Amino acid sequence: MARPPIAPPSLNPVPLDPGLYLVATPIGNLRDITLRALDVLAACDLILAEDTRVTAKLLSAYGLSKKLERCDDHAAPRISPRIMERLAAGERVALVSDAGTPLVSDPGYRIARDAIEAGHKVWPIPGPSAALAALTVAGLPAERFLFAGFPPPKTAGRRTFFEGLAPVRATLIFYEGGSRLAASLADMADVFGDRPAAVCRELTKLYETITRGTLTQLAADPAFADPKGELVVVVGPGAEALASPQDIDQALAEALGRLSPGAAAAEVAKALGLSRQDLYGRALALKAKP
Ligand code: SAM
Repeated sequence: MARPPIAPPSLNPVPLDPGLYLVATPIGNLRDITLRALDVLAACDLILAEDTRVTAKLLSAYGLSKKLERCDDHAAPRISPRIMERLAAGERVALVSDAGTPLVSDPGYRIARDAIEAGHKVWPIPGPSAALAALTVAGLPAERFLFAGFPPPKTAGRRTFFEGLAPVRATLIFYEGGSRLAASLADMADVFGDRPAAVCRELTKLYETITRGTLTQLAADPAFADPKGELVVVVGPGAEALASPQDIDQALAEALGRLSPGAAAAEVAKALGLSRQDLYGRALALKAKP
């Protein structure tokens, strides 16, 4: 049985200017949509949707009905010239993905870029994004962060990807699928060291869970062997963002008194939540000093 529409808020829409509207939609809870997003979806001439069935459900929840056209990464190059013609004719075109903010690990870049290059107005209609929702609840520094999207699926590529991010002095945000979560967390613990982190699952939905701990703890958590649902992993910055180079050298020098450079680098990397690879080079240099 079709559910009755969510009671529409009292909207006070202003007429829509021509252009391309990049509209964020809910990441789970259908009430997480802005009044302005509803204004745009109600008044635009056309909605470009990643999956028209998903967007039709959202529209129906708000009692809206609108012409929808599929626009995923595959369709975008083909339909873009026609969309540019419609924009040139003064139409108002909205672009949405299945959930969250379009373009963020989602389709939309090609159409947005073409519209900008053609000189059309491109309007942001901000709203939910799983990356920012996870960042806010992770309990990790949020002043500076890097959104890294989905890690590569295979171990070798994933480790190289993480190694490239290890020196970044910021909180890192990753999207990940349930079947790869355990392997990804294990690689993160190995490459980043034992940093604080959080796994944010099913945000804004019925089974929302946020698990905070060190990467080693999270990698060993049996709940993450093959979890269901959608996931964001947030990883706190390495201790080098907090510890000075002098602190690091001191810890390495102490460890080198007892251990080989490789073992000293591994011990200090684990203790300070740093990259073992980075510390190994520094341990060799310290060892070589007269
Ligand atoms: N553009 C979207 C956004 O702004 O959040 C992201 C789209 S990306 C294709 C889908 C991924 O986002 C999922 O695999 C998951 O990693 C993350 N995600 C989306 N919704 C989520 C939710 N409710 N809870 C946790 N993660 C979510």
